[in-house]
Amino acid sequence: MVRSVRRCESASDGANGARRATVGATVRTVAAIGVATILVAPSHALSDPRTLAPSNLLSHSRTLAPSDAPSHRRTLRTIAPLAPSDAPSQRRTLAPLAPLKFDSSRAWEHLRRQVAIGPRPAGSAPLAECRRYILSELKAAGIAAREQPFDAMTPIGTIKMANVIATIPGRRTDRIALATHYDSKLFREFRFVGASDGASSTAAVLELGRVLKARQNDYTIELLFLDGEEAVNTDWHDPDNTYGSRYYVRAARQAGTLAGLKALVLLDMIGDRNLDIRRDSNSTPWLTDLVWASAAKLGYGTGFVPANMAVEDDHLPFLAAAVPAVDIIDLDYPQWHTAEDDLDHVSARSLQMVGDVVLDALPQIEKQLAGTGTRGRGN
Ligand SMILES: [Zn+2]
Repeated sequence: MVRSVRRCESASDGANGARRATVGATVRTVAAIGVATILVAPSHALSDPRTLAPSNLLSHSRTLAPSDAPSHRRTLRTIAPLAPSDAPSQRRTLAPLAPLKFDSSRAWEHLRRQVAIGPRPAGSAPLAECRRYILSELKAAGIAAREQPFDAMTPIGTIKMANVIATIPGRRTDRIALATHYDSKLFREFRFVGASDGASSTAAVLELGRVLKARQNDYTIELLFLDGEEAVNTDWHDPDNTYGSRYYVRAARQAGTLAGLKALVLLDMIGDRNLDIRRDSNSTPWLTDLVWASAAKLGYGTGFVPANMAVEDDHLPFLAAAVPAVDIIDLDYPQWHTAEDDLDHVSARSLQMVGDVVLDALPQIEKQLAGTGTRGRGN
């Protein structure tokens, strides 16, 4: 769960809590109320510039796009042929390789495999299976990875969790992290497979890793697969959430490696067929600007909309540690935390858009970090 519009809610937490208590006959109802809280901002928030414009509140009436099977979108990567004039005796110049592309059919397969595992809450055998899948895919891509196990103290007792940290060395040892959570939220009342909430971003980060492994990166790229983002309890109350990201930051600080982490790009819930990602006002503005500029350049303005909202997610522990961070998340997803967050409500096209945007923004992020030295730390 990633609760949004915290600042809007904070003034009315009591009222919202009462509404939840009154209406919350089922978890699904609670989740629906949560979405309604996002979309229909309380009146006191209407003067807040972060509040969504009324025109952005139409998600419930959206119709689903027709199926876009990933096989229709396979991106064939080709090597440009030699020019005809390249006779063997001449000094031969190879045409440059076509730039590596994010392949949403590969990402879709990663998503589908996770959903096929079933519910994957922290500490469960299915999540361990998912972790093995991530590790084996990283290994197949030639990317070094390690597990970072830890004990999380949760409201239902200690849960053994583990982040997966993969590294793609760059020219510099300083790092840019691409992160996702890979756990799915625990629901006992219904079967929750988290096609968008957990699987989509994990799939995208795996595919981004494959592409970036083949690229000469200026900065070292760290892929973070974080455990325990979801609250163990139904509701999102600190500190019952973001276990993996909080542990990562604490461990990196103790190990003296946190200062080498220069930026974090967090992906979460990017599978929605009707992708409309808002700017998160908790995120670092210059990072957000670069991501949205890439989206506009690529013609993805419908997927990356100019509206704002405030999101609580795995980026907050990094921001608190002065690591610039951006959360790319589509919380305008009616299936959020319901049994319907399944394959029918996500699309390869949405993964493609986010993958393209991240790959386009990454060189800009590298330039910004390299050109400004220590600037860029903090907000
Ligand atoms: Zn969630």
